[in-house]
Amino acid sequence: MTTFPAIDTVAHRVLERVRDAALTPIAEDVIHGRRLDAEQGMTLFRTSDIWTVCSLADLVRRRLNGDVAYYNVNRHLNYSNICALSCKFCAFHRKRDQDGAYEYSLDDIRDEAIKAIDAGATEMHIVGGLHPWLPFEYYLDMLRTIRETAPRVHIKAFTAVEIVHLARIAKRGREKEEGIRWVIRQLKEAGLGSMPGGGAEVFDDRVHSETHRGKISGDQWLIVHRLAHEEGLNTNATMLYGHVETFEDRIRHMQLLRQEQDRTLLDWARTQGACTQTAIDHDGAEHEAVVLTDPATAAAGLQPTSETCSTGYYQTLIPLPFIPDDSELEHLPGPMGLENLRTMCVSRLMLDNFPHIKAFWIMQTLEMAQFMLQNGADDIDGTVVWYDITKVDGAGTHQEVTQRDLQRAAREAGFHPVERDTLYRTVHRDGREWTVDED
Ligand code: SF4
Repeated sequence: MTTFPAIDTVAHRVLERVRDAALTPIAEDVIHGRRLDAEQGMTLFRTSDIWTVCSLADLVRRRLNGDVAYYNVNRHLNYSNICALSCKFCAFHRKRDQDGAYEYSLDDIRDEAIKAIDAGATEMHIVGGLHPWLPFEYYLDMLRTIRETAPRVHIKAFTAVEIVHLARIAKRGREKEEGIRWVIRQLKEAGLGSMPGGGAEVFDDRVHSETHRGKISGDQWLIVHRLAHEEGLNTNATMLYGHVETFEDRIRHMQLLRQEQDRTLLDWARTQGACTQTAIDHDGAEHEAVVLTDPATAAAGLQPTSETCSTGYYQTLIPLPFIPDDSELEHLPGPMGLENLRTMCVSRLMLDNFPHIKAFWIMQTLEMAQFMLQNGADDIDGTVVWYDITKVDGAGTHQEVTQRDLQRAAREAGFHPVERDTLYRTVHRDGREWTVDED
């Protein structure tokens, strides 16, 4: 394990070595924990001084999460790839009569839950297509089956897109907030513990109409997560980048998420004494922002937890590079390594109220995720096992790494690997038994 110098020393070194003068005021803002605006975000995307961008992201990452690299022991379950939609960037979906279409029975799901227990998983991560015919009861039964079979395994399931689909098939109206809230409550009662961050893509109407028309809008996605937070569920967020969107679109996506998190965490920040600052919304209005990356807030270890926050909140952003293979956008090149790295860094710097930024190794590769740990990311996701949604060149659906692989990747990058559960509590193992640190 390498020893990392004190944050002040690092900040001083970064300031000394800035090569692009446009980055100096940004570096000063980051060092003092001041929120960055959209123009500064664009400068971070455009500068050729990638070293400074990486160094600043690393500074913030260490300020928030020290030398810890999180991973978890999880099992992904993609219960069906049959989908009513045909998003252009998606190579996962099938129509019902198409080769490769599948759906899991409840027995299959029970088997998956047993495998999760056998593998020592603390989490099942469940998402699927928008199946046109499965009834709402199927989803409740899925959760109840897992709950009965594997009562200790946390169920993180259903993107906002699926939740809206469920409101429609439950005949609660996909547009109505009370219908969506009703669905969330039903799912929670059946065992849902939190929500993943998929389906966000990039919050922009042009991108929406060019690549995933028919899917819910960015506004609706944000509303579903807001309702989930109000119902006490923690959620996560993604950003699928590197297709037809612009850097401006990526920055706006981050701003919208940041603004939502401000709203979610404001009461928590006031009661806990975390830093708040006046900030300007993406549409020009002033509001009170919660800045976890403020040096004093971070030094006091003030991060929301399920114990201290009366609602749910966004835990992590997962920037996802678009992988063109087998999609309708196969003609696009997709982002390369340096762009992936820079997007990770900019995400860390812009999302000053997100406790975690994840390098999802399945889509970034484990080697790149390792590098990203040194440049903004503090989490590399988990052991996964099966993943049907997207595959990096040559990878199959069986994508499994062991805990030892993840620990080695973290240590080699100079970090202390910590197994977390879905809510970022530390997991302790003793043979096949595991416990978590309570908040
Ligand atoms: S991205 Fe999701 S909603 Fe779109 S086609 Fe694929 S599975 Fe269906």
